[in-house]
Amino acid sequence: RFIVFDGPDGSGKSTQFRRLVEAVEAQGVNVCEVREPGGTHIGEEIRKVLLDPEVKEDVDVRCEMLLFMASRAQLISQKISPALAADHLVLADRFISSTLAYQGTAGGMPIADILKVGQVALGQHWPDLVVVFDVDEETAAARINPLLREREFNADKDRMEAKGAAFHRRVRQGYLDQAAGDPDRYLVINAAQNPEAVFHDLIQGLEGRFPN
Ligand code: C5P
Repeated sequence: RFIVFDGPDGSGKSTQFRRLVEAVEAQGVNVCEVREPGGTHIGEEIRKVLLDPEVKEDVDVRCEMLLFMASRAQLISQKISPALAADHLVLADRFISSTLAYQGTAGGMPIADILKVGQVALGQHWPDLVVVFDVDEETAAARINPLLREREFNADKDRMEAKGAAFHRRVRQGYLDQAAGDPDRYLVINAAQNPEAVFHDLIQGLEGRFPN
């Protein structure tokens, strides 16, 4: 079984991811946890390149998409595919749903193009479930505030925040569009709530989708 955690920056998905990994491991389940971009040697190198602010500034969106997908292809062959073959539970922090939201809906790349490259990179390893941690831009911005403050040293504050909010809205819409188009594979959680309530909804949602 292969489950992806995804959502905009500041959605708290990584916190919930950690909690779920700990909870299922405590039950004796064999878990393979992976994060994107990264998770393999070459993937971590690609992550460094992609998260470099200077690279982010002028990278072509197709180049960015292909690098994310390249990191993903390696992760699948090195970690995800063997884990699924061994019948382990695979939990991924971000996956192709991030590319569809960030480079697709928000970045302007046609969704169909990303899915075509995705067929090459993923093969038959598409997730069984994508949990989307949905959060409005105000709540998300408040959570990532320390990061924004750091960036203010280099950028015009108002411009950054205006761009940030609009971008967040497009990313968020990207996830919601995916969920609306494939409701069986997606589970949307209200991540604007406190972490306890989010985790509660997450467990309930998972039990609803996988009743055993
Ligand atoms: O989830 P995490 O904080 O590790 O994500 C790293 C960064 O990569 C995030 O800031 C996210 O905005 C960005 N990202 C992206 N396009 C993707 C996946 C992640 O811009 N396809």
